[in-house]
Amino acid sequence: MKIRFTAAEEAFRAECAAWLNEQISGPFADIRGIVSQTFRAEQRMEWERALGRARWSVIGWPEKYGGRDASLAEQVIFAEEYARSGAPGRVGHLGTELAGPTILHFGNDLQCERFLLPIARGEEFWCQGYSEPNAGSDLSNVRTRARLEHGPNGPEWVIEGQKIWTSLAQFADWCFVVCRTEEGSKGPAGISYLLVPMKQKGVTVKPIRQMTGDAEFNETFFDGARTKAEYCVGKPGEGWKVAMGTLAFERGVSTLAQQMTFRNELDLLIAAARENGAAKDPLIRQRIAEAWVGLRIMRYSALRMLSRATSGSLGAEALTYKLYWATWRKKLGELAMDVVGAPGELCTDEGYGLADLPYLYLFSRADTIYGGTNQIQRNIIAERALGLPKESRGDR
Ligand SMILES: Cc1cc2nc3c(=O)[nH]c(=O)nc-3n(C[C@H](O)[C@H](O)[C@H](O)COP(=O)(O)OP(=O)(O)OC[C@H]3O[C@@H](n4cnc5c(N)ncnc54)[C@H](O)[C@@H]3O)c2cc1C
Repeated sequence: MKIRFTAAEEAFRAECAAWLNEQISGPFADIRGIVSQTFRAEQRMEWERALGRARWSVIGWPEKYGGRDASLAEQVIFAEEYARSGAPGRVGHLGTELAGPTILHFGNDLQCERFLLPIARGEEFWCQGYSEPNAGSDLSNVRTRARLEHGPNGPEWVIEGQKIWTSLAQFADWCFVVCRTEEGSKGPAGISYLLVPMKQKGVTVKPIRQMTGDAEFNETFFDGARTKAEYCVGKPGEGWKVAMGTLAFERGVSTLAQQMTFRNELDLLIAAARENGAAKDPLIRQRIAEAWVGLRIMRYSALRMLSRATSGSLGAEALTYKLYWATWRKKLGELAMDVVGAPGELCTDEGYGLADLPYLYLFSRADTIYGGTNQIQRNIIAERALGLPKESRGDR
């Protein structure tokens, strides 16, 4: 397991840290440290464009698509420095972390040429159209349908159906939509992976307000929405494999950046505990130490996972990662509330303003749900990593 970096890699670290610090203490100081997904979204879209112009947006991608062909170690370094600088959560992450890597891996030349540069440059934003009211954990139950029509604009997919929990759909230009394109098909067969423009008559986005006060996610309705026939990633009817590939990209290098964010949150919690005296409570101290140890374990397992990754695919240990971090962060949120005590239940302004630690607590409740719930993660570990018999279900 490699946990040290070479002199050249450390020089790279200095270069990206200098750029990030200059930007985040200068033109983008107003958005420093923002974790909420929607707060100051316009400025953060401008930040995405600044990252794109300086080619720091998607450094692992090929140069011709706006990247730097950066090695895995350089990607890890950049991710660490990004979080260390206090740069905000990336509003473009569904494009840079999910849509882009999926198109690069499974898409054809036409799709790469059309979609990758605008993602890298922060010119087009994306959302993920997977979940439906009756298809969450069981994604293969999707009911959204698309049929191919030959009209005046050439062959096009016409999409009907409803998605839900579509994060950042209100800002998105495109959505990757998992839908059924073969009449009468069931389960993973007959599903296609379509790239659909959001700014069109047939798409309606309705925000859903969360307990954090944010309306990060939305209901998304497709009523005769259209996209070109050629914007199907993979073969029509064989989109399941592509959809699963996208989920695997969620476990990539960005996990290291996420840990730096967790480190910042733990530091905030420790500072609050020192300030209000909670740090003197032996049980709180013990839980803080446990959180610190958990974070170190997370770091070393992520480094192990990434150092074993060959040709972009991660080993079986990667399957444990989501379960581990989500459980850890949910406990951190609970600890945060025990540290702040009763004042944590008050809003900080006349609206629904939450201080950072209560926000952390409320948002962390979602960590064990999105990207696959804890129960689903356990099923995945059992079946794919340990080779245990498949879960028994009525439909198989
Ligand atoms: C903050 C947030 C952002 C999200 N963003 C997006 C997005 O951008 N795009 C998108 O498409 N979706 C998004 N989602 C949706 C997310 O992917 C789903 O919530 C998740 O897949 C769970 O599906 P569900 O909510 O329908 O719950 P269900 O699947 O109905 O599960 C309900 C409960 O049953 C359990 N359960 C279900 N099946 C099994 C099983 N086989 N074995 C054991 N237990 C089981 C689950 O673990 C859970 O506890 C987001 C969710 C959140 C919270």
